[in-house]
Amino acid sequence: MKKVAFFDTKEYDRTWFGRLEKSFEIKFFKEKLSPENADLANGFDGAVAFVNDTISGDVIRTLTEGGTKVLAMRCSGYNNINFKAAHDCGLTVLRVPVYSPYAVAEHAMALLLTVNRKIHKAYNRTRDFNFSLRGLTGFDLNGKTVGVIGTGKIGRIFIKICKGFGMKVLAYDPYPIDNPDFEYTTLDEIYRESDAISLHCPLTDDSHHLLGAEAFGRMKKNVIIINTSRGGLIDSEALLSALKERKIAGAGLDVYEEETELFFEDHSQQIVNDDILARIVSLPNVVLTSHQAFLTAEALKNIAEITIGNLEDFFAGRTLKNVVCYDCAEGVPTTDCTKCNKDNP
Ligand code: NAD
Repeated sequence: MKKVAFFDTKEYDRTWFGRLEKSFEIKFFKEKLSPENADLANGFDGAVAFVNDTISGDVIRTLTEGGTKVLAMRCSGYNNINFKAAHDCGLTVLRVPVYSPYAVAEHAMALLLTVNRKIHKAYNRTRDFNFSLRGLTGFDLNGKTVGVIGTGKIGRIFIKICKGFGMKVLAYDPYPIDNPDFEYTTLDEIYRESDAISLHCPLTDDSHHLLGAEAFGRMKKNVIIINTSRGGLIDSEALLSALKERKIAGAGLDVYEEETELFFEDHSQQIVNDDILARIVSLPNVVLTSHQAFLTAEALKNIAEITIGNLEDFFAGRTLKNVVCYDCAEGVPTTDCTKCNKDNP
């Protein structure tokens, strides 16, 4: 039976992956995959990792020298992987391209509603029998403009939800879809016109700090920013300044650019050293969740089934549906390479 090392394990992973364990011998490690502990996978045929694991060149070399041939990401994003090293060392990288875009899109709307209607403030107040409405005024979403950056699977569901609220949608994507039932426009118009802006694009070299001082400077006053994609899309210092200058009305964040060492764990008994984060979460108009947008029962079930299916395909030498290739795309990680998705290397 093939052996699989499972990193950054949470209780819910044991629940969902444990049910599917019959295919492999899975060893669950609590640690995130990192250069310090990649040798835990020595002797394992495959490894399973997640969004905040460090999958650097060093880690990949340790994995492959220890006999690991495949890395199955139990997420869709792959910005934390050194693909050149994976290619050079012959490590196949698989992922879960879709598990529930509804989970993330619905969470984005939950953040928008919470920030706008100040539900987080009301929740705390009423528990303390403070029934004052002072400072809780929001605005109707109906008739307002939402800017959606990235119109892939999640972005398009978010657009559908926003349309259900009667919002006007302006969208930007360098690869627009055919026959959209919403309007594509420039980033500049999105910044100028939107009452809320939601990010649904991947983190790449191009999109790193997409929202920085310059972008915030071009935005309509009192816009609400929602980010359920990747923290690195927003320059956190610039966000903090824009919030302090009251340039933007609030932010709903499920991701943070320096989240790797913090998110998914309980740090409540420690002094957190990230001053930018500490200041951002202290603001009354910011709601931060800890990368939980994906966390629905449906998504967890799909993640487990697809990850196990990916590993089964790899070990059985079957066609790989969910490989991220590097070499065929001339050094750019890609997920739709017909060659790699057909040939199991
Ligand atoms: P997708 O690949 O279906 O869609 C991404 C879209 O972004 C594509 O249409 C692409 O053309 C577009 N895009 C690429 N670069 C862009 C740019 N610079 N500006 C604007 N658009 C750009 O991906 P998806 O499934 O919709 O996921 C979107 C993002 O959501 C992922 O990249 C991931 O980072 C994030 N995500 C977060 C969670 C969470 O729990 N918070 C869960 C899943 C995914």
